[in-house]
Amino acid sequence: MWDVVVIGAGLSGLAAARSLNQSGYAVLVLDKSRGVGGRLASRRVKDTVLDHGCPLLQPLGPYQSDLIEQGVAAGLLHPWSPAVYDLRANQLQRRPSRHPYYTAEAGLNALAKLLATGLEIQKQAQVSQITPLGQGWQLELIAPGLEPLTTRCLVMALPAPQISPLISPLQASLEGIKDLQTQLQQVRFRPIITAIAGYPPHPPTPDPGPGWMIWSEDPNDLACIILDSSKRPQPAEPVVVIHSQADFARAHLDHSDLSGVGTQLLTQAGQLVAAWIAAPQWLQVHRWRYGQVSHPLAAALLKTEKLPALVGCGDWCGGDWGEHTGVEAAIASGHQAASWITTVLG
Ligand SMILES: Cc1cc2nc3c(=O)[nH]c(=O)nc-3n(C[C@H](O)[C@H](O)[C@H](O)COP(=O)(O)OP(=O)(O)OC[C@H]3O[C@@H](n4cnc5c(N)ncnc54)[C@H](O)[C@@H]3O)c2cc1C
Repeated sequence: MWDVVVIGAGLSGLAAARSLNQSGYAVLVLDKSRGVGGRLASRRVKDTVLDHGCPLLQPLGPYQSDLIEQGVAAGLLHPWSPAVYDLRANQLQRRPSRHPYYTAEAGLNALAKLLATGLEIQKQAQVSQITPLGQGWQLELIAPGLEPLTTRCLVMALPAPQISPLISPLQASLEGIKDLQTQLQQVRFRPIITAIAGYPPHPPTPDPGPGWMIWSEDPNDLACIILDSSKRPQPAEPVVVIHSQADFARAHLDHSDLSGVGTQLLTQAGQLVAAWIAAPQWLQVHRWRYGQVSHPLAAALLKTEKLPALVGCGDWCGGDWGEHTGVEAAIASGHQAASWITTVLG
């Protein structure tokens, strides 16, 4: 039996697992994907690496600053100084640069791989069912050849809406599940559709400098447009990544073929920013059903005194760090989960 199984190898799960592992517990991390990192996601298209999830890191809080320090020390992260614009009333307005940004030549996902070093991780292992045992939990997996696992404590480092289907079958038999469900109902996520497009070389307008990034404040379907290739010193080709607004994503999330949806985003960006964006050589589209948190849990982690060996964590846990969201909240919440479990295991 494991001391702790962590479901989810995103930043929150990796933070929890590293901390518990350092405390000497036997920890296993399970993730349904082929790799680690969750929404700190990068992919390779032909010879080009790009970030289609979280695009950059900023030293906005202690955990993110520490992550950046580790990434820089490992030679993975470097500062990135793009021109940043707001799209307002159909005009691009240059923002004064505020914080340094950090990004990775090998893709930000390389940082998750760094955090995963030395941990016991089972990839392509989707947890489909949780069953209470006298002392601990049994987990059923959707993974060829993998038997059910048992653990004393369980950390669910998943987006809140993905925790609900795992715990609701236990509601009738287990006191405490209702408490957890009530807390989960506070949490809301914004979906995002992400268009990723590659181009033949030409001047990367609107600014030929060290790259650019545009935040839309207008009532269009675009949230953010990034010349992703400008994060890398010698990109094979220009690559633009466009993240949609949540309403646009909600309207199109369940389309079986998203290529037309991606083309709509490129067309708008072509009209508003630069015509060449609408004419890519290739296009890929990714859907984030649980992209970013809009309504976090008002607590540092999901827990109930009635079931101390079952906790949830992730960027959707608000806690004391208030204005910190995203990466900072995910790591902070993972640490909170680890410290709670340490108390439970003694
Ligand atoms: C497009 C986009 C842009 C973003 N921009 C920023 C930004 O600029 N700044 C910022 O701070 N944050 C940003 N974020 C948010 C940031 O990426 C997340 O807050 C952070 O990565 C979340 O980490 P997490 O561990 O909480 O969750 P996740 O990364 O979602 O990890 C959850 C993991 O659980 C796994 N999983 C799910 N269900 C199961 C199951 N049943 N069994 C096994 N495994 C399962 C998933 O595969 C995943 O790996 C952005 C996110 C997106 C998508």
